[in-house]
Amino acid sequence: MTLSQLARSIAESPTLRLNEEAQDLREKGEPVIHLGIGEPKNKTPISAVLSAGARLNEGDIKYTPTDGMPSLKKAILRYTEEHYDRLVAPENVIVSSGAKQALYNLLFTLLNPQDEVIILAPYWVSYPEMARMVYGVPVIVTPEDGTFHPRMEDIERKVSSYTRAIVVNTPNNPSGLVFSEEFIGEIVEFCESKKIYLIMDDIYHKLVFDGRIAPPAYRFTRKSPDETYVIVVNGISKIYGMTGFRVGWAIAPRKIVEIMTNVQAQTTSCPSLILQAGAEGALTGLQSIVESLRLSIQNNRDVTMQELQSFRGVRTVRPEGTFYCLPDFRAFSQDSVELSNFLLRKALVVTIPGIEFGMEGHLRLSFSGTVKDITEGVARIKWALDPESPNEIYIGDRRMVRDWL
Ligand code: PMP
Repeated sequence: MTLSQLARSIAESPTLRLNEEAQDLREKGEPVIHLGIGEPKNKTPISAVLSAGARLNEGDIKYTPTDGMPSLKKAILRYTEEHYDRLVAPENVIVSSGAKQALYNLLFTLLNPQDEVIILAPYWVSYPEMARMVYGVPVIVTPEDGTFHPRMEDIERKVSSYTRAIVVNTPNNPSGLVFSEEFIGEIVEFCESKKIYLIMDDIYHKLVFDGRIAPPAYRFTRKSPDETYVIVVNGISKIYGMTGFRVGWAIAPRKIVEIMTNVQAQTTSCPSLILQAGAEGALTGLQSIVESLRLSIQNNRDVTMQELQSFRGVRTVRPEGTFYCLPDFRAFSQDSVELSNFLLRKALVVTIPGIEFGMEGHLRLSFSGTVKDITEGVARIKWALDPESPNEIYIGDRRMVRDWL
């Protein structure tokens, strides 16, 4: 069988693969704890359910305009004005099936074959694969000072005449860091002066802790919405906990949106009308939902940090946003895939290997689940790795004895 070399070279999504593995084990009755998945546990906001349900009840579910329903776009304009203090026109907005599709369509629209996209490690797993899928070249920049915070000098060193775009994700998946205002200001200025697109993946922008806010890139541009090099990608998956609705959007100069619309028209036509109606319901409904989700995740962050602080040998940078942290497990293993497999096999805990995010020796832990999952999950990891922890533990109703340390 002859298949596309490029398609065959695309890595499978490690998070989705581990989800399936965890599901298989659960179906076999194994008490798996999932610290891998990035999905809040909240119920869908009632305003979203009612709005989607009303459209479904009308029984008239047809295509919408390719770039999204006008009423949803209006809600996105209002959201952008309220949260970013930025007035944009409907022609600057395209709604897609998740921020993921918005990002893919955007890279497809911006890049010629061999154009380079700068990606900052630690990075979300899909960026390098998406860049390669549109025949671009991902160029990874790792902070030379060993932190998770990007530095302009490291970025500038990797910029070439082929650089078309830089992707910045803050609050950051997987590190949980919120990038400094100073850095955002510098990178906006740099990109606008070099005519390099700055793709801000803002999917976690409201999930920030301790009274901070994630500085929006728009604050630092003096250019109009049709001239700026700042492009913002956002969606409802994380801040409303509506991952299954698959609705996200991009805000960009209208020339870019026009081409993205053609790309979308020839592939998926438009996101589903019902799900767009759900997204509109979330954006126009009671916003206290976002704050209560944020508070419960902040509490989970505190619990996670407390559990990890007493874990000898593990070093963790305190997350300032998102629902992830990326502890350093190099005291136990240099090979994060091996370590993650070991923890799944021995302790029935799902973690995501750091190498998938460009940070070998680390594991990404998600604290989007329950406090019980977090405390029990970390206790199991300690039991599996730390020789000073008690060598017996209950996993489900099974008493397990550690015999490998
Ligand atoms: N960007 C980042 C950094 C993410 O973590 C995710 C989801 N894991 C996405 C984009 C995609 O979001 P959506 O569900 O809207 O496609």
